[in-house]
Amino acid sequence: MKRLTGIPASPGATLGKAFRLEENRSAVEKKHLSSERAEREKERFKAAVNKAAEQIGAIIKKLQDDGLENEAGIIEGQMMLLDDPQLSDDVFRQIEAESVNAEWAVSETFRNYAAMFEQMDDDYLRERANDIADVKQRVLGFLSGESASPLAGLTEPSVVVAHDLTPSVTSQLDKKLVLGFATATGSKTSHTSILARTMGIPAVVACNELLSNVKHGTELFLDGDEGVIMIEPDDVLRSLYEEKRKATVKEAEKNEEIRGVKAVTTDGTHIELAANIGRPSDAAYVHEHGGESVGLFRSEFLFMDRSSMPNEEEQFAAYRETAEKLDGKPMIVRTLDIGGDKSLDYLSIPHEMNPFLGWRAIRYCLAEKDTFRTQLRALLRAGVYGPISIMFPMISGLDELLAAKDQLLLAMRELDERGVEYRKDMKVGIMIEIPSAALTADLLAPHVDFFSIGTNDLIQYTIAVDRMNEKVSYLYNPNHLAVLRLIRMVCEAAEKHGKWVGMCGELAGDPAFTETLIGLGVTELSMSPAQIPKVKRVLLGLSAQAAKQKALSSLGCPAPVFR
Ligand code: PEP
Ligand code: MG
Repeated sequence: MKRLTGIPASPGATLGKAFRLEENRSAVEKKHLSSERAEREKERFKAAVNKAAEQIGAIIKKLQDDGLENEAGIIEGQMMLLDDPQLSDDVFRQIEAESVNAEWAVSETFRNYAAMFEQMDDDYLRERANDIADVKQRVLGFLSGESASPLAGLTEPSVVVAHDLTPSVTSQLDKKLVLGFATATGSKTSHTSILARTMGIPAVVACNELLSNVKHGTELFLDGDEGVIMIEPDDVLRSLYEEKRKATVKEAEKNEEIRGVKAVTTDGTHIELAANIGRPSDAAYVHEHGGESVGLFRSEFLFMDRSSMPNEEEQFAAYRETAEKLDGKPMIVRTLDIGGDKSLDYLSIPHEMNPFLGWRAIRYCLAEKDTFRTQLRALLRAGVYGPISIMFPMISGLDELLAAKDQLLLAMRELDERGVEYRKDMKVGIMIEIPSAALTADLLAPHVDFFSIGTNDLIQYTIAVDRMNEKVSYLYNPNHLAVLRLIRMVCEAAEKHGKWVGMCGELAGDPAFTETLIGLGVTELSMSPAQIPKVKRVLLGLSAQAAKQKALSSLGCPAPVFR
């Protein structure tokens, strides 16, 4: 038995035989041809591109039919690659210049393109190398006449093991056959990982030693919660897995029992349990896990995996679709939170020394006001189709909040001028992610309808600990008194002005903190949909009064007490 570790990319545990995807299924041979034959190679290349485009078109249609618009958008990026005249010209030039076979020209040209992207600093652009490799494999498959699916040989439930999985292959994974997957490269924010989480397939990525240790057919235990892969698990681990599986089934049954139960404490305080989502199709998970509302729609997901900014109509359609799918459940949409670790290749945000302290979120939007108001207009219009609220991210103080609200008023005026219908009583909130906002919450409260505490950022800024840096993660402590006092300070300011406080950072979904957060005065908790039943179960057994006493008396303590 051997233990490998990687990044936990999608939760869940699974046990099964490895199905190794061989990356270079068809080693490409270089053939020198006569110049007439070389001409014919161009035609072969064009035919293969057409077939690949047809196949990609079918995949896009299937994803759209399944309501997976975002996933379809990812694959559309590959269609654009196929349509790129520059790429075809380069393949033609290679065939002509060297009188070589189309396979060789495709292989070389695509390899050069991929290498160019792999060198880039930007994570998103580096990920594009993956798309290029995917399209290359597809075109080569059609050139050699074989099926383009690398998963064609997968006939029994297995754990897929690969150097990397491309987004289009991932989107085609059959959940009945793919128990989970492990890759040697990748990141938590790659399209592949995002797709795995959406599809509920356990996954571990960036496992360096994977390919040198796992052979085709090897028995694996893969734990997507911990980012661990055990090779040839022994009987002890097998029975552990069996216990974990049984516990998961039991938990799902118990979750089902409380799905429709209202989230109230034993002394009658209702706490709204909401979901964090990022695309219209995620609305299904809100219903599935019994979420009362959406406390955070991360709108930047709509802006990713594209080559240009979504226009007002596209955004309006996405927000409206989500509101309609939520079927009357309220939704808070956070305006574009780009920058920091999230970049868009079509926006020229310069490389920064400290991107988390730099030009991100509301700072970007207030500098690029047209982009900002386009989003605001789309949201105002979608508000006619469901109870949507707007939330501004990364507000550091009153001036910023008032400037953002001015833009909202302007967006309303623009819609008035166009005679377009919109939600006139749009509720407006802000995220409390920066200590300066928490410390001045009493000044901000009169100007908002609600606060939502973003602990992911609030903790990193309060303790000065980079949330992305493993080396200092031991300092990332939600129990730090400074963090707890800031949360209480925000709740107190809001209470004085009759406003409510929610939380949408990861802490909101941690059942170990439910009592503390309720005690501090948070009345809405927004989390990954699957966490909702876990938090609800804890909540149903709590007394809000007792939680309050415990939390408030602890705030003056010299050491953290909520362990
Ligand atoms: C947060 O900072 O807690 C938050 C919810 O925003 P994000 O994780 O998207 O930065
Ligand atoms: Mg944040």
